[in-house]
Amino acid sequence: MKVPFIDILRYENGFYETVTARTAQLIKDGHFVGGPVVGQFESALKDYTETSFALGCANGTDAIQVALRAAGVEKNDKVLIPDMTFWATFEAVVNVGAVPYTLDVSKETLHLTLASVKEGVEKFKPKAIILVHLYGWACPETLEIRQYCKDNNIICMEDCAQAIGTEIKGESLLKNALVASTSFYPAKVLGASGDAGGIFSTEQKIIDTSKILLNHGRTGHYDHGLIGWNSRLGAYEAAFMVEALKHLDAKLVSRRAVCEAYRNKITNPALKFLAPGKDVWENGYLSVALMTPESRPGFIEYLKANDIGYGTVYPGAMSAQPGAAAHIGGKISHGHAEWIAKSIINLPCFAYMNIDEINYVIEKVNAYKA
Ligand SMILES: *Cc1c(COP(=O)(O)O)cnc(C)c1O
Repeated sequence: MKVPFIDILRYENGFYETVTARTAQLIKDGHFVGGPVVGQFESALKDYTETSFALGCANGTDAIQVALRAAGVEKNDKVLIPDMTFWATFEAVVNVGAVPYTLDVSKETLHLTLASVKEGVEKFKPKAIILVHLYGWACPETLEIRQYCKDNNIICMEDCAQAIGTEIKGESLLKNALVASTSFYPAKVLGASGDAGGIFSTEQKIIDTSKILLNHGRTGHYDHGLIGWNSRLGAYEAAFMVEALKHLDAKLVSRRAVCEAYRNKITNPALKFLAPGKDVWENGYLSVALMTPESRPGFIEYLKANDIGYGTVYPGAMSAQPGAAAHIGGKISHGHAEWIAKSIINLPCFAYMNIDEINYVIEKVNAYKA
């Protein structure tokens, strides 16, 4: 048996036919960029996430950039980010002309903590922070960090690229996020058929500015009030996602079950499975286990020999990337992000993974001897 790390082609019955029919109609109607289907998607996305306002855009990295700018981040502003995230978070800060400062993450939760945010704020006096919700979890101290930022006049922007469908304290993570972004890259939990992203806010003003920024700073057809980008959402992507969104709950059920099965049935002491914080309901984006920098390489060889796909999300800290040196403003590091990068292992996890595949992974991992 061969189990891939991810398989994004397990469409629901009828999905392919529905999407191809909708795409054919868009070609006939000449709706290629924007148009009614984009509005339909944005409205469905707003309802699903329970946010006040939602917008589609071209990809998840643009979404961070537009959201930062719309929330008030300007040239040379200091922005705190976790040292453990995808590089896009770092890039986005630099691309809007601001300066990234990295904060180490907790070795237990793998996320920022209120204490680490406070330390960073006191040391660097930033204008904004990007809270990144990795692995389909919410940062466990999200609500406390949001409140702290509000009390201290710091913009709290949230990178939810991996967190669509995630809940905290029984509510959608995106519901009360001041300003947030997501990615609909095909491998994400809600994937498009190409690149796409989303911007969310509880504030009308932030969404109005975002809408202008992602369409050439347009305030009228040939009136340009701001220097923006072209980050418009294509109509095919919107149509694909309108249909995909209808199945998102089923996907979450399937993904969560995979993560749960590993946590409950893998007893090999070489792996320590992590769970999201007690108030967090994961979306099942990734299964997360920790090994050690010494034990992981041998296990990876074993997975390869048994045709089991795996991930190491992420294999390096942001502050250590070669591209960081010329742009980073400062960092607080205790070596945790580097340690996590060398110790983390992600087993296969995707929507509609079947029971034989899940059991094969469990059986092989339990049989592994270091
Ligand atoms: C995928 C991802 C992004 C970037 O999204 P793109 O759509 O690929 O630009 C940003 N942040 C995180 C945490 C991601 O996982």
